[in-house]
Amino acid sequence: SDDSGPADSEDSHVNVHTSNLSLYRVLMMGSPGVGKTALARQFMTSEYKGTYTESNTPDIIEPERNVNVLLDDQESTLHFLDEEQHPDFEAEELPLDAYVVVFSVSDTTSYNHAVKTIRTLRDLHRTNKAIILVGNKIDLARQRRVARHDASRVAKKYDCRYIETSAALNHHVDELLVGILSQIREQIGPSAN
Ligand code: GDP
Repeated sequence: SDDSGPADSEDSHVNVHTSNLSLYRVLMMGSPGVGKTALARQFMTSEYKGTYTESNTPDIIEPERNVNVLLDDQESTLHFLDEEQHPDFEAEELPLDAYVVVFSVSDTTSYNHAVKTIRTLRDLHRTNKAIILVGNKIDLARQRRVARHDASRVAKKYDCRYIETSAALNHHVDELLVGILSQIREQIGPSAN
């Protein structure tokens, strides 16, 4: 990788998708207002700013988006789906490879909702797919209500990865993309790409 930016994941490289690679479907979940749209925007502008076209109607979220991620010299496409567009994803039998469950570290209710979502996925739906718990808005340090330690412990208990981000500051957003892909690959096993 020739990543020259101040990335915290040196051999990872993120860009906007155009071609045919192994494609993984990722469902973004979480309470309203936690920053799902803001994170998705950062995914799209991650390396090649300006490629993403702003919608004329900013409150209409693009339901499906692709991002290429390079990890261990192998590029894959993450295809993001929105829970609002697929509220009944279980009944739809959407083929999914990962769930990203977002909460705001400044909002205990959103955290409790996220934990409940993870518990439902693991205990009720009995999925063993990749789940990434995301604590967003860590820039709001003085408004923090959820301790990193607590979220991390819950994630571990349910075999999820925990990542803290700030969509506002574009902090750890690339790390989140790489984290999603590595969890998916770990889940799928060494034979797949
Ligand atoms: P969604 O409903 O989950 O899609 O949430 P949005 O992405 O629409 O964000 C809700 C509000 O939180 C907006 O005003 C965002 O600007 C704000 N927001 C999103 N991410 C962050 C963040 O990391 N830090 C801060 N301070 N605000 C954020």
